[in-house]
Amino acid sequence: MKIRIDRGVCAGHALCAAKAPEVYRLDDEGYCCSDGEVVPVRLHAQARLGAQHCPEAAIFLDDEGEAAQPPEA
Ligand code: SF4
Repeated sequence: MKIRIDRGVCAGHALCAAKAPEVYRLDDEGYCCSDGEVVPVRLHAQARLGAQHCPEAAIFLDDEGEAAQPPEA
């Protein structure tokens, strides 16, 4: 899973990082700067939770390639 952030839409609410601090990082101005980061399998649920709480719908989660990852031990 890979994170895509629409930086033109992100308004710096920081709810993504509040809901999923292990997944989403904020820049010095409070905007999400996790665009392009790969989310490990163990954090997929958190990534989805953070995305669901973004009031601007600025977060997209690319699931491409997920099937190629080995299952967690
Ligand atoms: S919750 Fe959405 S709008 Fe707020 S910082 Fe995160 S991505 Fe940006």
